[in-house]
Amino acid sequence: MKIADKKTTATKLVKTALEKAKKYADYNIFTFIDEEGALARAKEIDAAIARGEKVGKLAGVPYALKDNFLSPRGETTASAHILQGFKSPVTATAVAKLEAEGAIMIGRTNLDAFAHGSSTENSYFGPTHNAVDFERVAGGSSGGSAVAVALDIVEFATGTDTGGSIRQPASFNGVYGLKPTYGCISRYGVVAMASSTDCIGFFSKTPEDMDLLMSVASGQDAKDMTTLPDYYNPTDARTGNSEASSLAPVVTGLASSIAPVVANASELPVRRIGVIKEFDNESVDADIKKALKEKCEALKKKGYEIVELEMPALKYALAAYYIIVPAEVASNLSRYDGVRYGFRSEKSDNLEDLYLNTRSEGFMPENKRRIMIGNFVLSSGFYDAYFLKAAKARTLIVQEYEKAFKKCDFILTPVSPNPAFKLGEKVNDPVAMYLEDLMSVSLNLAGVPGLAIPAGKTDAGLPIGLQLVGPRRSDKNLIEFSKELE
Ligand code: GLN
Repeated sequence: MKIADKKTTATKLVKTALEKAKKYADYNIFTFIDEEGALARAKEIDAAIARGEKVGKLAGVPYALKDNFLSPRGETTASAHILQGFKSPVTATAVAKLEAEGAIMIGRTNLDAFAHGSSTENSYFGPTHNAVDFERVAGGSSGGSAVAVALDIVEFATGTDTGGSIRQPASFNGVYGLKPTYGCISRYGVVAMASSTDCIGFFSKTPEDMDLLMSVASGQDAKDMTTLPDYYNPTDARTGNSEASSLAPVVTGLASSIAPVVANASELPVRRIGVIKEFDNESVDADIKKALKEKCEALKKKGYEIVELEMPALKYALAAYYIIVPAEVASNLSRYDGVRYGFRSEKSDNLEDLYLNTRSEGFMPENKRRIMIGNFVLSSGFYDAYFLKAAKARTLIVQEYEKAFKKCDFILTPVSPNPAFKLGEKVNDPVAMYLEDLMSVSLNLAGVPGLAIPAGKTDAGLPIGLQLVGPRRSDKNLIEFSKELE
């Protein structure tokens, strides 16, 4: 079914997505729904098709935008009170690229305020509910985006992953979630959490769609000095591979009409899959362990070799992450002063109180906790003991992955130690919440890509996610290989 075949229209697609968004209002997925803007955009696309004009790869495809991406459409709040009322004058590079290909944003999705969290319970707007079990968390921080895709409201959604915020909610809701290689997609116009680990990525229902989204969004950007030259589209598929881009956009499965750019997985030189010994311990849920084992068995039958990896430096990952990230958070959040963006406390009659009151009222408790930890680990008396040590541990972790990828092509691990937990279960216990990130944060510290894939359900029916990890710049092969695990 294609829009250009006139079997459907962008307007119909957008209307359906908007209807579903309303139907699932109880899940608290959206912080803002742009009915008028989305329908206007759909009308433009339908008119362009009627005139016989060439339309983009994502023409008419409705999507949801995590509410920490800047765009003039609606307020960008990052689900934080302190940003309420902030209308961005700029558009994030990733958003501009998606929309240049005709994708239509129907709304902005809920997150843990400033992306600090693993459950979307730290949102000023209240928690998002899990797509499969309403009593459970959506995962976080990109909970709204994951649930919007899992409930089939939209074809895809954007996310940010600083320590697991795409992969973990993807796994809690049974969809694909990719954290690309650090620097693959521009961070320009995305509310910064920790600049050295922040990555932009997507939620999708299939690996094919993920590939298409990556081919659209990746590439160097003069506005983000950390972006890499475009390795994702080596032959410049965006312009050179005009075969693909001139094809009509599709309705079911974004990518089904786009010719594959890489060879079949069977032709890829992937032979050895690593499993991490340190992640096989009693903290991991039995059903998740079983799912991992079953996938390994299935791979063995297909002729892959399973390699057991010892990665002792990973035991420092969580501690290093929760020093480095708060340090960068404290710095990135210092700009919210009540003068330049969004909310301002009215209580104050002098400048110092204005800062104090705005920040006290505007940040969530978890934001404040990270500002405190961050400033502590950076303070002159403690810098060497904490920040510097964590930076050294990070180097060890980078090296550990480099060594591992000499012994195997990809690594397969759980995304998190457990499936989606109950709402309220961990929200008052920050350490329990941080432990959720045990298996996801080392990838961000090392800059390597990770793809969360659906891997069945627990006995209680909750989605299980596994993550495929590859060396830097292996994103495309990772997506291609994931088809072997479907
Ligand atoms: N759960 C992790 C944290 O709270 C990761 C968050 C993220 O990736 N944005 O830091």
